[in-house]
Amino acid sequence: MIPTTFHYAAPATVDELTALLAEDPAGSVVLSGGTWVVPSLNRGDLTPRCLVDLRRAGLSSVERSGDVIRVGATATYADLLASPLIGDELALLGLMAREVTGGPQIHNQGTLGGSLCAARPGSDAAAAVGTLGGVAVVAGPDAVRRIPLGEFLRDAFVTCLAPGEALIAIEFPVQPPGSSGYYKLKRGGSSWPIATAAALLRLDADGVCERAALTLGAVAAVPVPVPVEQILRGRRPEPGLLDEAARFAADRVGVPWDDELASGRYRATVSHVVARRALQRALSDIHQVTLR
Ligand SMILES: Cc1cc2nc3c(=O)[nH]c(=O)nc-3n(C[C@H](O)[C@H](O)[C@H](O)COP(=O)(O)OP(=O)(O)OC[C@H]3O[C@@H](n4cnc5c(N)ncnc54)[C@H](O)[C@@H]3O)c2cc1C
Repeated sequence: MIPTTFHYAAPATVDELTALLAEDPAGSVVLSGGTWVVPSLNRGDLTPRCLVDLRRAGLSSVERSGDVIRVGATATYADLLASPLIGDELALLGLMAREVTGGPQIHNQGTLGGSLCAARPGSDAAAAVGTLGGVAVVAGPDAVRRIPLGEFLRDAFVTCLAPGEALIAIEFPVQPPGSSGYYKLKRGGSSWPIATAAALLRLDADGVCERAALTLGAVAAVPVPVPVEQILRGRRPEPGLLDEAARFAADRVGVPWDDELASGRYRATVSHVVARRALQRALSDIHQVTLR
């Protein structure tokens, strides 16, 4: 049971949302899927004066406009998995969503926006969003800001959202054809990630790498983008080369994240393997596409 009382509001538009947040920026808490907010209210860790529920604000759609795909902040993992646009154009997001644990309840309730705003280092979403070049669309009292993920996530549990601002969407550039690979290392079937890697690969007709992108997740306070093209571009992705790219990725981890799931030392050690497996999966995705 929630031990405190507060005002509840469910704005129907972004204008209503920003107006409501402007009335009490410091005392408002935004509610998306509520998988983190509701337990925190129950424990008394969150004591807002106003709970601003996004569910009626029309922010759950996935739409394409020109060269941009816009995923509403309240799109759930189930929405991502059900969207043909995600399947066709941003398959990496679908691969990530499939790996989120907690069963149908979390898939139907947890949102992409909620995951990014919670900024929990050990989450699935951020690395995939980073590899796809996701940009956070943030609405505030005076303006809408577009912020690349690397600037949106400042530190563990810290975003660049100011009081009175809300994430309303994540925008992705339409990707050139290519293949995706996601790998999540976890303790058991239903665990949050210890380490993740999200990869994109594109080969030319001769099997030479034209494009590659990779982000490591859960291994540091914020996702670690890795410029693997420096290693892979213009070369054939033989196993030895993928291993070289994966070692290059592991070398970029910096200060590793340490929590109850795994020590920082363990995360630093496994980063190489996790990166290599994501690249291998992306490569086997290419081969499956070729065989179809
Ligand atoms: C049993 C269980 C298993 C899980 N397993 C995994 C897993 O394997 N991998 C994984 O990555 N995650 C996992 N999660 C977490 C899940 O991914 C949630 O989706 C995510 O952490 C929070 O999303 P939410 O929509 O519920 O956010 P909420 O709880 O609604 O909000 C989270 C935080 O973000 C803020 N916020 C939310 N939306 C906005 C917005 N639009 N603008 C501004 N602030 C906002 C809230 O105020 C709050 O501080 C699991 C959760 C549970 C309970």
